[in-house]
Amino acid sequence: VRSGWQAELEREGLAPVARSTPTNDGGEYPACPACGTAAPLADGACSDCGLQLE
Ligand SMILES: [Zn+2]
Repeated sequence: VRSGWQAELEREGLAPVARSTPTNDGGEYPACPACGTAAPLADGACSDCGLQLE
C-alpha cells in the first residue's frame, strides 16, 4: 500500500530522488533575487544584473 504523500510526489514528478538539487544545498551560491542567477558575486554584486547583494 502506497502512502498518500508518496503517491502525490510521484504524480507530480517529484520523487524523493529529485529533491537533491544543488540549488538549496546551502553550499552553493545564492540565487539573485532580481534575475535568479546563482553565480559568484562580483565585488558583492550580482555578476549578471549588477544588483548589490553584500
Ligand atoms: Zn542578478
